[in-house]
Amino acid sequence: MAKIKAIRGMNDILPEQTPVWQYLESSVKSVLAAYGYSEIRMPIVEQTDLFKRSIGEVTDIVEKEMYTFEDRNGESLTLRPEGTASCVRAGEEHGLLFNQTQRLWYQGPMFRYEKPQKGRYRQFHQIGVETFGMATADIDAEVIMLSARLWKQLGILDSVTLQLNSLGSNEARAEYKDALVTYLSAHKDQLDEDSQRRLETNPLRILDSKDAQTQSLLDDAPVLSEYLDEESREHFADLCEMLDQAGIAYELNPRLVRGLDYYCKTVFEWVTDKLGAQGTVCAGGRYDGLVKQLGGRPTPAVGFAMGVERLILLLETLDVVPETVKQPFDLYLAAEQKGIQKRLIVLADQLRDAVPGMRIRVHCSGLKNISSKARQTGATWVMLVREENQSLLANLWYNSEPVFDITEDRIVELLLQQWQQN
Ligand code: ATP
Ligand code: MG
Repeated sequence: MAKIKAIRGMNDILPEQTPVWQYLESSVKSVLAAYGYSEIRMPIVEQTDLFKRSIGEVTDIVEKEMYTFEDRNGESLTLRPEGTASCVRAGEEHGLLFNQTQRLWYQGPMFRYEKPQKGRYRQFHQIGVETFGMATADIDAEVIMLSARLWKQLGILDSVTLQLNSLGSNEARAEYKDALVTYLSAHKDQLDEDSQRRLETNPLRILDSKDAQTQSLLDDAPVLSEYLDEESREHFADLCEMLDQAGIAYELNPRLVRGLDYYCKTVFEWVTDKLGAQGTVCAGGRYDGLVKQLGGRPTPAVGFAMGVERLILLLETLDVVPETVKQPFDLYLAAEQKGIQKRLIVLADQLRDAVPGMRIRVHCSGLKNISSKARQTGATWVMLVREENQSLLANLWYNSEPVFDITEDRIVELLLQQWQQN
């Protein structure tokens, strides 16, 4: 019978990979804790209308990437393609947004029906940050600063570039849209097929077309920054000033628009040139209109989401994951003789009581070549135990420096001492 396989574009994350995932996740958690952010956990499935109404009907995601299905009641449901909409829904539903400030984060799988390739999958993972109730540019600066701190902590800051733009108010953007459409309509035949279609549906997206001819046409197109309203202009200047003060370098990219409808004012992306075409590892911006659009009272908001798979690819490409992260245990404990495994498993638990924090893996069953096998695990400590005259005796290798014939009464003491010195 043919074996059942995983669904295309949906990956298993195997035991040899999970340590790097955990390392990234715990690094993110420690940075977010340092900024006082709280975690929120939302369901993976939502009503389809939530995404249609927030992300926008004519975006790539809603047009062609959603996993939408009917449940047994005939209700249209969708596997979440991103987290912001769910987060706003949850915040509204539980009264977390109106007249309050919130600094929230979430993590988990997202689903988009895309062409699977390196850095692009159908189930992928994001860690996202959403802040609510803060209208001034200091919070825009904070979310960018916390992401920069994370890159620094992970050792990838030198390999990512911050791209920054302002989309202005809805009114300013509408005015710009008209000017752009007027200009591009006059050259419609030179646009790539996608862009011709977007001219009718979502003209701003033409700005980030990958087509070379379209891009060169854009060189002479009206520029968004010249259409910015006074308030957005000041907001953006404030943000740039704070980033300058914080020593965070950025590139102004007037063609950065982002794929989702709900952004206004600040938009940004952290981009790397180390991963080929899938170079954006983190993206976000301000979305002051979204809460109202989803039925709440007007609430300013800023957030971003990072792509976990891409970040992990980057960590591995740059080889910046600390070696110790990959080893799931500190001590490998094995019996050298048959018949003492029962004593060994009890000894292991005594050691866990005595040396809190030490990760101990016991060799269970099968003693062939145990001495060399145990030392090949790469553990920092390897302990082989045998029995003489009913008493246990241990040999201990620490960073391959052996201590032989440790008597039973000294095993715990010696290990604790070494652990504390380490
Ligand atoms: P792209 O332009 O690469 O399609 P996007 O604008 O659709 O990205 P966002 O919706 O902003 O992406 O999601 C934020 C981040 O999530 C992206 O910057 C990326 O790192 C990651 N991401 C998005 N889609 C995928 C995917 N299909 N597979 C893996 N990571 C993804
Ligand atoms: Mg996309």
